[in-house]
Amino acid sequence: MSTDPTILDVLVVGAGPAGIGTALALAAVEDLTFGVLERGRIGQTFLDWPAAQTFLTPSFTGNGFGATDLNSVHPETSPAFSLGVDYPTGPQYATYLRNVVRHFRIPLLDDTEVTSVAAHEHGFELQCARGPVIARALVWAGGEFPQPLEPRVAGSALADPARSPEAWEQREGRTVVIGGYESGLDLACHHVERGSLVTVVDGSTPWDAGTGSDPSFRLAPRSRVRLAAALDTGRLTLIGAHAAGIKRDGAEWTVSLDNGSRLRADSRPIAATGYGPGLGPVEHLFARRPDGWPELDDDDQSTLTPGLFLSGPAIRHGGLKFCFVYKFRQRFAHVARVIGERAGKDVGALEAWRAAGMLTDDLSCCGVECAC
Ligand SMILES: Cc1cc2nc3c(=O)[nH]c(=O)nc-3n(C[C@H](O)[C@H](O)[C@H](O)COP(=O)(O)OP(=O)(O)OC[C@H]3O[C@@H](n4cnc5c(N)ncnc54)[C@H](O)[C@@H]3O)c2cc1C
Repeated sequence: MSTDPTILDVLVVGAGPAGIGTALALAAVEDLTFGVLERGRIGQTFLDWPAAQTFLTPSFTGNGFGATDLNSVHPETSPAFSLGVDYPTGPQYATYLRNVVRHFRIPLLDDTEVTSVAAHEHGFELQCARGPVIARALVWAGGEFPQPLEPRVAGSALADPARSPEAWEQREGRTVVIGGYESGLDLACHHVERGSLVTVVDGSTPWDAGTGSDPSFRLAPRSRVRLAAALDTGRLTLIGAHAAGIKRDGAEWTVSLDNGSRLRADSRPIAATGYGPGLGPVEHLFARRPDGWPELDDDDQSTLTPGLFLSGPAIRHGGLKFCFVYKFRQRFAHVARVIGERAGKDVGALEAWRAAGMLTDDLSCCGVECAC
């Protein structure tokens, strides 16, 4: 891809699963000019994952029977097939993404951070170290990983964020984890398995079974199995209260809770309190929902800025969260079709994505309630 002043039909920012998947769908639209800009390397977030972290959504090569691998970003690929594992590590998944880019010849510039985005008479002008790039449409796929949310408590800077290598290092004695959903319990089990005495605090008790079957609101089966094993050791305590403050007292850390009690830890507490939408230089181009997530129309387009689309885990429609690959990939082909149709291109090839269970354009049929 060149960055001379040609105007592209569409630019994608970010070479994670959302950006690569959207680019693959755009490639299925006849004669569309597009490219991907990535500030690091392909799959950079996965290269940055702590070494002990793996996917919690399993991969399996069910593609031939209409059950496309949950972690795949293209109907004809399967991480389980190419990597030979069912729960990829970060670097393994980055390898899968690299292979996909190479195989489908996706035009991509790495080491190219987009630092600002402004409206332009033809669409959008993006600034990056290699100079300005102009495109009629823009897909933001910058991911959530750059924006971990700190716990909203006094002394929050004393906690190690879950994404940091320090949070995963061997800990002696008592460890406190703030936040008890997937990331928090993953870390808690990790430290219990290595002999530490761990307490997890979370007032919303996400470890309880809950009522729905949507994995965005209920722990994944593998997490529940690990949790049960960790509880069996007697070294894990779960407390249904929110942290209210963190203090350092000499060689100890104290976490006070909103139920009035205090916990002592022998190392910095760990904050596993979620991620924000990570909109970076396009933040000002999105309106916000009352819950703070970007407001989108039915085509995942900014309600403030026509032509700007969002791809990835920050997509929310009503109460639906698209926070796993198998969810947000449902929108790659939809967004590609909207962009392609506006550009007057033939989008017929995108129907193959629907056949593979990778295209949902009617959001009313999303959501899960399993009978048993
Ligand atoms: C700890 C954790 C565990 C998870 N586990 C799972 C799981 O098991 N299964 C699952 O389906 N999902 C999982 N998720 C959800 C996860 O966020 C997504 O699956 C995935 O990382 C999101 O893909 P993405 O492409 O949107 O973002 P990313 O993978 O983060 O990719 C975004 C890319 O954009 C680049 N970028 C950002 N800003 C710029 C810029 N200004 N200019 C250029 N490039 C930029 C980044 O370098 C990065 O490469 C997990 C998330 C977290 C945080």
